[in-house]
Amino acid sequence: MNQVLIIEDEERISSFLEKGLRSNGFVTTVAATGHDGLALARGGAFDLVILDIGLPDKNGFEVLEEFRLGDKRTPVIILTARDSVTDTVTGLEGGADDYVTKPFRFEELLARVRVRLREDRSPEATLLKAGDCSLDLRTRRLVRGEKTMELSAREFALAELFFRHPGQVLTREQILSNVWGYDYDPGSNVVDVYVGYLRKKLGSDAIKTMRGTGYRLMDIRD
Ligand code: CA
Repeated sequence: MNQVLIIEDEERISSFLEKGLRSNGFVTTVAATGHDGLALARGGAFDLVILDIGLPDKNGFEVLEEFRLGDKRTPVIILTARDSVTDTVTGLEGGADDYVTKPFRFEELLARVRVRLREDRSPEATLLKAGDCSLDLRTRRLVRGEKTMELSAREFALAELFFRHPGQVLTREQILSNVWGYDYDPGSNVVDVYVGYLRKKLGSDAIKTMRGTGYRLMDIRD
């Protein structure tokens, strides 16, 4: 059973994480300060650490830096404020393995936790492929042939959904609920708009419109 350490001072968030992780079979421990979190993390009993950046005593980057002095291996996922690009880059450079921006959906975090724990055993698990295209879950970049493309957070979430189901028809409703969560207007055309953005990057042949049903990521070859 996987042991996860949650270093987060906001009780609302840590209990949300604990509840979700426990119901998915994880064993969880919560620390509400950087000091306590670091002491627990150093104990070495954890398979993964979820680390908030805004902590009351020391910030998450300091915790990460000190933790990485002694442990380079245990995966750390940082929680950052939305669109805080500097935080994200600092975190990844400081030895974080991944990040999730607040506010997040539990499924998004769970997917990242699972990728990290799997990667521990097989490093290829972060690269999803469809034909000559691949999606790197770690850098969140899309690669086709020689071209590497950056994605916005939403584009990435959409691309990830497609790459996890290559060749499969995904309905608008499936896409909306997976990528936009509860936070969407079912009548909106966001899906079409974002599929358009991905087509611009991947090539217009990459995602096929299935009339009346939804979209399908093709198994693309050059
Ligand atoms: Ca906080």
